[in-house]
Amino acid sequence: MSHAVCLFPPPASKERNLHVDEALVWVADKCWDDRIENVLDTSILDFIACCGQKKNVWSPLTKSDLFGCNYMPKKCSITTVLYMSGRVNGRGVASADSESSSTWSCNAVKDDMINVHLVPHTHDDVGWLKTVDQYYYGARNDIQNAGVQYVLDSVIPELVNDPSKRFIYVEIAFFARWWREQEDNMKTVVKGLVNSGQLEFILGGWCMNDEASTHYNAIIDQHALGFEFLRQNFGGCGRPRIGWQVDPFGHSREQASLFAQFGFDGLFFGRLDYQDKNHRLNTTTMEMLWHGSPDNLGEKSDLFTGVLYNLYQPPGGFDFNQYSSDEPFMDDPRLHDYNVDKKVDDFLKAAKDQAKYYKTNHIMMTMGSDFEYQNAHHWYKNLDKLIHYTNKRQTTDNSKINLLYSTPSCYTYQLNRANKTWPTKSDDFYPYAYREHSFMTGYFTSRAALKGYIRETNAFLQHFVSKCGLVTVVFIVLLISNAVSGEAMGVAQHHDAVSGTEKQQVAYDYAMRLANGRSECQKVMNDAMGQLVPKGSEGFMGVFFCDLLNISACSITEQNKQMIPVFKRTQNIPERKGYMAKNELVFRVEIPALGYSTYMIKMSEGKFLLFLLTMYMHFTGKAISLLEHMSLKFDSNGNWDKLTDLHTGQSVDARSDIVYYHGMAGNCSQGKFQSSGAYIFRPNGTTPQTWTDPPTVVTVDGPLVNEVHTEFSPWVTQVTRQDKMGKEVVVRVNTGMKSDATFYTDANGRDIIKRVRNFRKTWNLNQTESVAGNYYPVNSRIFLRDESSGMQFTVLTDRSQGGASIQDGQLELMVHRRLLYDDSLGVGEPMNETGSDKQGLIIRGKMYVHFGQISDAAKFHREFGLRTYLTPITAFTKTDMNYQDYSMFYNTMWSGLKQELPANIHMLTLEQWGGPTLTPSQTQPYLIRLEHFYENGEDPQLSLPVTVNLQDLFVTFNIANNNVYKVENRQKLKGSLDITLNPMEIRTFQVNLKDGPPRQNVDKFTVFS
Ligand SMILES: [Zn+2]
Repeated sequence: MSHAVCLFPPPASKERNLHVDEALVWVADKCWDDRIENVLDTSILDFIACCGQKKNVWSPLTKSDLFGCNYMPKKCSITTVLYMSGRVNGRGVASADSESSSTWSCNAVKDDMINVHLVPHTHDDVGWLKTVDQYYYGARNDIQNAGVQYVLDSVIPELVNDPSKRFIYVEIAFFARWWREQEDNMKTVVKGLVNSGQLEFILGGWCMNDEASTHYNAIIDQHALGFEFLRQNFGGCGRPRIGWQVDPFGHSREQASLFAQFGFDGLFFGRLDYQDKNHRLNTTTMEMLWHGSPDNLGEKSDLFTGVLYNLYQPPGGFDFNQYSSDEPFMDDPRLHDYNVDKKVDDFLKAAKDQAKYYKTNHIMMTMGSDFEYQNAHHWYKNLDKLIHYTNKRQTTDNSKINLLYSTPSCYTYQLNRANKTWPTKSDDFYPYAYREHSFMTGYFTSRAALKGYIRETNAFLQHFVSKCGLVTVVFIVLLISNAVSGEAMGVAQHHDAVSGTEKQQVAYDYAMRLANGRSECQKVMNDAMGQLVPKGSEGFMGVFFCDLLNISACSITEQNKQMIPVFKRTQNIPERKGYMAKNELVFRVEIPALGYSTYMIKMSEGKFLLFLLTMYMHFTGKAISLLEHMSLKFDSNGNWDKLTDLHTGQSVDARSDIVYYHGMAGNCSQGKFQSSGAYIFRPNGTTPQTWTDPPTVVTVDGPLVNEVHTEFSPWVTQVTRQDKMGKEVVVRVNTGMKSDATFYTDANGRDIIKRVRNFRKTWNLNQTESVAGNYYPVNSRIFLRDESSGMQFTVLTDRSQGGASIQDGQLELMVHRRLLYDDSLGVGEPMNETGSDKQGLIIRGKMYVHFGQISDAAKFHREFGLRTYLTPITAFTKTDMNYQDYSMFYNTMWSGLKQELPANIHMLTLEQWGGPTLTPSQTQPYLIRLEHFYENGEDPQLSLPVTVNLQDLFVTFNIANNNVYKVENRQKLKGSLDITLNPMEIRTFQVNLKDGPPRQNVDKFTVFS
């Protein structure tokens, strides 16, 4: 099959040497590539057959191809014909491009004019005020008038009727719902629109993910899910090339780095600090080259990035949505209210205003907004008139403004043609304030329980996918169950989900989806264990997963011999009603890499309790005792006193306490009346509140752990429940370290970014909120360094939080928020989470601290960061067998790896690969992602490049030597299966198994979460 030309514009950045030939998540990127054969829609082939054409459908068609077709049997539907004619006309329009190419899908530009790229778009939140399903169908329109199905229903005919029209679509969670409901004819039409570039998928993630409280693992997974959907249904022409993060509240450098590694050519976003925006407008630096990982990946992580002029809205007066109050074009001069002249004048002014701030003779205008285009005709009819009457001025008035329907890809392509040098950026866009006292730093911590649940469920999904992936018998069920949990996780990464900025009913819906996903995983994990655990034909009794361990509740483990009393406050958590356990059992375990181990405990009634612990890690889960490296001394009040590094003997005074800010109350009518809310953190004053009475202290000494239970009871019993002010609770550690206004936070769990108090790298900050304006997202770690003593103090968190260093030597992390006012950003209700007793929701979390030399610190926080992220899963069962009998019939320990991976390599992904593959494959292929998780220069040994042999990895299967593909460039791996990874590098492979199970073409997108 010949390689015909793709109608899609070529990767713009290639010419600028920005394009990275690396794809974390994508396989077939060549449109019309012969491999796409797998996804060719048979109805298109039918059409060709109908018309008696022998021609390959993927070659460019001519009008005579279409109209020379005299034979039209019944099965060729009218929509198919519409698709074909649209495509032919589309090419006709494209041929007028100043590049004089007949293959682009971009509309023509005029090089001697300011070209205004009008981008029709809709911003569809995957849950916010309504749930994702309510938004899809347009239910509960009393809350918000929004139904995504109508958007797609009404946009498609508009595109079909006029090949010059364009539309971009972003959120695949919605698109997939719509696609599943369409008949084949409609699917054919839509494929035609995608192939011609009229309908372009932008971003292409399951959602437009939040960037502050997401982990890179989840960001990759949610994009891989969306990309995989597009790949399976649209092939190479569905491949997104542009990041479109128009709404998230601040932007992470790691997100840019990942986008560059996805092979994106550009990124556009809407929100940045108002001072930064003013500075960029005044210095014509709204568009830049962002270095996503300057110290590690270099050019591979560079991404062209543009700030949108008007957030993601149209210019004032030009919102042509059905329910907009902006005036439509009234263009019959015989009628009253004729307004064309004024409309065009206003638009020309808006275009000239905007063009002043951008470097080239191209500007982009976002013509759409939240859930717009439910009646696309309203928009397009007026956009047609806008284009017609404004461009008419070119002949009547010598106007130099040219309007065209466009997409961000076509716009980016023109910027590349302009051959400019762009300014660079190497830090990130946090924190984001949109006016003086409105810093969106509260959402770093908002809904701490949901944030924790998302993190914990992700660990479950990763264990499940990999563990069951190794047990080939369960693979079909696996793909489907994987889809349930994968889609739930994908939805949960949305910028109003994990961010905690949704309405309460929507937060419950996200949690329910995650719970459903978990229970699907648990069923299949039990099946997998049934394959792995028995030595012979003995059946396996199955295991029970305790989902309530976060409140120390698990019915199967109750009434055990235990050692550590459950903290009184925990025993009183209202959700524990009915659970008896008053003690927790603490013992050290060892779990082999990517495997499980079993422990048995004899219970009082003579039965045995079986613990199965599974681990998704590349190395053995042997206990790391921090107490071998450092010591922590308490004073008599239960406060921390001194931290000592046992290697060097260096000590530092350290005190930890829990304090709280009163959230500012206000009606938000003006900036100075901004209240604290789900998005905004605005403390009432700069000094946090402390307690006057000393806390109650209970000390528990045991052979393995010592615990100091400190109860700040007056706050718990009186303040939270009785007074009427919102609380933002922080854990604060004061050390004697000389940190020189500097601290460090991670970017989505990966690269570390240096933060300096009251300072921004790219503009002169006028600090207006001395606490909230110094808060940054902490996804897994925050640390202080004392360069004079060479020591580092690190705190690792178990979920995303906001963190800061408000004074030298001090770190604080906000752990919980309960607010009684709405911050007036649309949610319309205060973020006042309550438990089953209708009192403030109780949250339990963990933090790990480390004090040691700077040169040793990475070894701790890199490995422990992964351990905290992917905590082992525990499962339980009761049995009459004793250990001896049990171990005769069952494997008590198992590992899927032949040997541990090197200490700086992590297996990020191991999963069965569905859909079309890189090459025809007889056996089920697998996708493997390996990552080097140290940064350059962090550790003398572990930061070095390292080589791994893929063949040596897995116990249960052998990789076919001649059938391993590098996903990054779709090349076969030649010679040995040695893979080298450089610091912070992620590499993706498709492997095929020797004698593996037959390949199944399972469509994992037919189920819903
Ligand atoms: Zn949004």
